[in-house]
Amino acid sequence: MPSEETEVVVVGAGQAGVAMSEHLGAHGIPHVVLERHRIAERWRSERWDSLVANGPAWHDRFPGLEFTDVHPDAFASKEQVADYFVAYAEKIGAPVRCGVEVTKVRKHAGRPGFRVETSDGAIDARFVVAATGPFQRPVIPPVVPAGAGPVQIHSSAYRNPGQLPEGAVLVVGAGSSGVQIADELRRSGRQVFLSVGPHDRPPRQYRGRDFCWWLGVLGLWDLDTPPQGAAHVTIAVSGARGGHTVDFRALAAGGIELVGMTTAYEDGVLRFASDLAENIALGDEKYLDLLRAADAYVERNGLDLPEEPEAHVLGPDPACVTEPRRALDLAGAGVTSIVWATGFAADYGWLDVAAFDANGRPDQRRGVSAEPGVYFVGLPWLSRRGSSFIWGAWHDAKYIADHITTRRGYLAYGTEDRG
Ligand SMILES: Cc1cc2nc3c(=O)[nH]c(=O)nc-3n(C[C@H](O)[C@H](O)[C@H](O)COP(=O)(O)OP(=O)(O)OC[C@H]3O[C@@H](n4cnc5c(N)ncnc54)[C@H](O)[C@@H]3O)c2cc1C
Repeated sequence: MPSEETEVVVVGAGQAGVAMSEHLGAHGIPHVVLERHRIAERWRSERWDSLVANGPAWHDRFPGLEFTDVHPDAFASKEQVADYFVAYAEKIGAPVRCGVEVTKVRKHAGRPGFRVETSDGAIDARFVVAATGPFQRPVIPPVVPAGAGPVQIHSSAYRNPGQLPEGAVLVVGAGSSGVQIADELRRSGRQVFLSVGPHDRPPRQYRGRDFCWWLGVLGLWDLDTPPQGAAHVTIAVSGARGGHTVDFRALAAGGIELVGMTTAYEDGVLRFASDLAENIALGDEKYLDLLRAADAYVERNGLDLPEEPEAHVLGPDPACVTEPRRALDLAGAGVTSIVWATGFAADYGWLDVAAFDANGRPDQRRGVSAEPGVYFVGLPWLSRRGSSFIWGAWHDAKYIADHITTRRGYLAYGTEDRG
């Protein structure tokens, strides 16, 4: 029998878990945050060496603390982001226990609450918040067999160009991770192929303002459901080298060969879909949509922001887009590594409660799950487009703490001494 009891167990001490702790603390709700490694571990050990935040420091932070070591318009390095969350947890006195893994959560039979089993004993809790992140298990599509020749790694295992064997590299996936890794590899002198799927690529800056600001004033961070067909559309942005717009024409001009979606492999040859031009055009259209919406906003509000007509001029498609390669003989092209920047899946094997839909996805609204007392925070589109980003998780955690407070009020009814 566990000797320990608390009101809320928060699982995971990334940004979502730290935010959750702040709001629970503000409500005076007893809780612990259990983290199997260290605070903000993924920023320390599951990202490449040169990664910086995708948003500027004034934006990619919690409301209660500014970065002290990064200019507000600059991009924090991954270590600075991790240090920020450690400092934040200290500042709010978050009751984080590092090195404690949650192995199982089950509902109590015949009484309220949950049994939380951990690598350090069991805890009974009335509420459980899963803050284990949107990006838990790296996904590599089963296209190229393990013994096919090239070294194959996921973007979460990529660190720097020196880690890969000599030779050309294929990077699969052109979201923020794929484009940044491909760019870094090319700049290190590698021959690089980049497999590009559907994507969104907002301008880094337009008319003197960062895209994070534009998404804010245009209300686009607050979209509450993905735009049609956008559920799987990745966003390609970069804070690298001071921040720049992800521009596939510039990547091609720098020597990266763009190819379509990677579809199949046989006898040493990879095949690519015929969708490259379409994917580039879709990204261009979304980019131009944002410029047009920004222009309309400037006009409507009479803002004095410098015009930037050149941003609307995209230039011709490069040859690799107009006459795309559909097949690549890996050995023939000297490809010795494949970096799969193909995203992540969820892993809630430890959460043994009725909080999932028929497809195994969290069954929740704004983080409140189908299993009363169980919550999710930090997931994409939990309440809005911004939900998996640093500031978005903070606001969602606030809502969840409010919800827990309300529930505690009902549960307390009739138990207090009413004189
Ligand atoms: C490459 C990359 C770059 C990104 N850049 C930005 C950016 O610049 N700006 C931005 O706003 N967002 C960015 N994001 C998105 C998001 O901010 C990060 O993914 C962030 O790490 C998510 O925070 P989280 O707290 O939800 O989850 P995580 O950071 O994944 O934290 C979850 C924690 O839970 C722990 N855990 C998991 N299972 C258990 C268990 N069973 N028991 C105990 N502990 C457990 C893990 O060790 C981990 O520390 C980026 C994402 C990626 C992949």
